[in-house]
Amino acid sequence: MKEIVCKLLVIGAGPGGYICAIRAGQLGVDTVIVEKTKAGGTCLNVGCIPSKALIHAAEEFDRLRHTAGLNALGITVETPRLDLAQTVRWKDGIVGRLNSGVLGLLRKAKVKIVHGAARFRDGKTVEVETETGTQLIRAETVVIATGSEPVELPALPFGGAVLSSTEALSLPEVPKSLAVVGGGYIGLELGTAFAKLGARVTVVEAMAQILPQYDGELVKPVAKRLAELGVRVLTGAKAKGYSGEALAVEIAGKEERIAADKVLVTVGRRPRTEGWGLEELDLDRAGRFIRIDEHCRTSMRGVYAIGDVTGEPMLAHRAMAQGEMVAEIVAGRKRVWDKRAIPAVCFTDPEIVTAGLSPDEARAQGYEVRVGLFPFNANGRAMTTQSEDGFVRAVARADTNLVLGLQAVGAGVSELSSAFSLALEMGARLEDIAGTIHAHPTRSEGLQEAALKALGHALHI
Ligand code: FAD
Repeated sequence: MKEIVCKLLVIGAGPGGYICAIRAGQLGVDTVIVEKTKAGGTCLNVGCIPSKALIHAAEEFDRLRHTAGLNALGITVETPRLDLAQTVRWKDGIVGRLNSGVLGLLRKAKVKIVHGAARFRDGKTVEVETETGTQLIRAETVVIATGSEPVELPALPFGGAVLSSTEALSLPEVPKSLAVVGGGYIGLELGTAFAKLGARVTVVEAMAQILPQYDGELVKPVAKRLAELGVRVLTGAKAKGYSGEALAVEIAGKEERIAADKVLVTVGRRPRTEGWGLEELDLDRAGRFIRIDEHCRTSMRGVYAIGDVTGEPMLAHRAMAQGEMVAEIVAGRKRVWDKRAIPAVCFTDPEIVTAGLSPDEARAQGYEVRVGLFPFNANGRAMTTQSEDGFVRAVARADTNLVLGLQAVGAGVSELSSAFSLALEMGARLEDIAGTIHAHPTRSEGLQEAALKALGHALHI
């Protein structure tokens, strides 16, 4: 059996693992990374990137199909046609470019890449089944970055017409009817895209509201747009099974059958902690996830865990930030997880972006708050881009004006996420945002106006 001995072994080359390995390599740490499928993990191959590619294609198609907006600008177009197989090829091309990019960056940082599935022998040794035989890797320090996978419902096992997000991203043609079980961000992003591509979409959500992690004010513009797109939304509804091209749903004690060529199940993701020897290590757990401290250390000395395998929020940028921090710690630097904000974006139509606390969350933590809300229908840029729905909201402590949270819903607001996070990380007060010159005409002026509104003297409303 071939054997490698190294300082750092990273298991999983998703955003958490590959960033950790690149940074460790840059700092001169002798690093090996093991990946059983493709570099880039869920995010690059079957998550963030391909879903945003599909969403973009769907937006373009929808705009050309529903021409009222274009006609108002004096533009007329011929009837557009869609070749979804070509859309998928285009999306795969982007994924392929990014895959090669990640591998190139790992090589540039002098990281050794081992392709195959890792299996723990003990806390510091793994076996990897590679194409050329079994490889043994012994390391001083191990980072578990094995990510997460879609949760399967017993009543709706994956296969045939029942899809996870992974299969939904590579369909050869648009289903005539699609039932989306689970109205969280993944289900709604993909459900909206398929509605725009021409599918008749029904969303089935067990909770009383779609996107239950957000307050109703933020969700309202999304619900309105779904209705415009003809998406039927069933809340308080439970999917019971699929047969005869129909999804059985229980709603208010009654059973309804919803015609659906395909069923997309997006009811959450679970950490990849089973089936590769991790159980035998007996690491402390936090529910289903691996328990970590503020340095991403597990309960076993020299074993770290980062990314989705460690819990919520399961987001690529959190995994990357943890990976970068752990690499620096392994290289001997003093680092600790002291982030004030992990921004979150929901790429629905319109988009939602949040960082820090909502008004309700801030009140629940005992703060007396000032809240300022600026609607995009009073913003010049929103008018000139024909997308006036939504708003920016600022939440601050009433006594000191320290900003506690920032939220927005509207077209393209994902790009406000960096301003939101920076404000929170820098400990901004409402006056800091209000006194910063924001370029005109931009949607970001909504942020300045929301801060001004919270201070009691908005200028444009
Ligand atoms: P992963 O990306 O899951 O990577 C883990 C890697 O480990 C995988 O490549 C896997 O093959 C490998 N692995 C597992 N076990 C082994 C083993 N035993 N041996 C070797 N290798 C192994 N997040 C965002 O921030 N923004 C978004 O817009 C966004 N959109 C998403 C859309 C969809 C449809 C989905 C499904 C997810 C989305 N996410 C998004 C979430 C994001 O993809 C994850 O949070 C992120 O990928 C987590 O990174 P990770 O490094 O922890 O794990």
